[in-house]
Amino acid sequence: MDGLADLLERLLTAEEWRVLRRAGDVADLHGVELYLVGGTVRDLLLGKAPADLDLTGVGVDEGFACVLADGLGGRVVSRSQFVTAHVRANGVLIDLAMARRERYEQPGALPTVSPAKTVEEDLRRRDFSINAMGVALSRRRWGLLADPLRGLDDLERRRIRVLHEQSFVDDATRIFRAVRYSVRMGFALEEDTLGLLKGRLRFIETIGGERVWNELERVFMERRAVAMLRMAKELGVLAAVLPALALPSGALGTLPSPSKSPDARAKRLLALVAWPVLPVRMSALRKRLHLSRKMARVVEDAAAVKELLSALRARDLRPSRLHGRLEGLDAEAIRAAAIACGEPAAAHYLEYYLSELRGVETLLRGGDLIELGVPEGPRVGEALRELLAARLDGLVATREDEERFVMRKFHPHLDPPPSRGRM
Ligand code: ATP
Repeated sequence: MDGLADLLERLLTAEEWRVLRRAGDVADLHGVELYLVGGTVRDLLLGKAPADLDLTGVGVDEGFACVLADGLGGRVVSRSQFVTAHVRANGVLIDLAMARRERYEQPGALPTVSPAKTVEEDLRRRDFSINAMGVALSRRRWGLLADPLRGLDDLERRRIRVLHEQSFVDDATRIFRAVRYSVRMGFALEEDTLGLLKGRLRFIETIGGERVWNELERVFMERRAVAMLRMAKELGVLAAVLPALALPSGALGTLPSPSKSPDARAKRLLALVAWPVLPVRMSALRKRLHLSRKMARVVEDAAAVKELLSALRARDLRPSRLHGRLEGLDAEAIRAAAIACGEPAAAHYLEYYLSELRGVETLLRGGDLIELGVPEGPRVGEALRELLAARLDGLVATREDEERFVMRKFHPHLDPPPSRGRM
């Protein structure tokens, strides 16, 4: 095929194009063969402006990130293991890595890394053929595609294919990645890849909790997260993480946006997939997904709502009773419970609580009650609770109503003080 010089010019911003052109020159000068790689190339070939600029260089050493940053008039913004760094120049962020080989000593363990001698070696360690292409950035070979694993064919055939039989054994996080790409791009899992994936589900056990959570969270943040979770469920991927994990059937409603409320989205989806987990398995779940305190709380709160379901079957539950039972529980846990419980009446109460009762407060504060003659101490808290219940049940609306309510309770023989000029 022709080179991709054209695509680079068309799909990159002018600044990105200039920075890459210059990066290629700097690399040429230092004997480094520089390539755009991975998802960046995949997206370019699909005609999309890439989200990140991932570069790999054959011959990159510890000092090269600084050399590149200097040559671009930019700076190194971060470095991490395996000679990888972020370099920023003219507002363009580059993700630079040393071209490397990887050897997996045992399933699920992080690989042993050594420098690659050719870009092909680096491409061979990757997850899927569509992510295993490179575009040369040297001046002499600018825009030439390196595609030793026939990724372009697979891109055209719209399929996800692993590079070798051991791929999912070496690194079972690729199972989640396969599902993610398949749904995101509308690609099928190539037949052998599908067979391998199904046969290797047990290797998910070899992946530590932190990495499993990381993969799940990446799924949660995708636009088509629900379809991905459904596919993961159907393939047995969720059950391979923990047997009870599933996704309620039927509509799941609108999810919080991944860019505006990522936390709420993760909480909601976690509470939904964890809904069938029994209380005795909660600590196993926490451990398996290496849940943060915040995320652990949401599954616990959803479990607490589940225990309340029988109480929510009562007809004519007073709002104050409903509030008393749900107060303090995470809103996302409650919403997930409403979606997952499969009981319309209970779901109605839960939604009613979220939309009408949660966050309701009395107009009078503790100090106001003391002024009205409620003795300082525990009686104030008690009176506030009673007042809140009265408000929730619609017995008081205005400040004057609240004052009258308090006076009737504590000084049944007196009138409330005259209103102090408030409307
Ligand atoms: P996304 O669009 O989701 O960001 P991406 O392809 O950029 O996709 P990254 O997770 O940023 O994905 O990884 C960059 C590249 O690194 C991938 O395209 C792939 O070539 C390689 N890669 C990432 N994770 C793995 C893995 N677990 N095994 C092998 N190669 C991987």
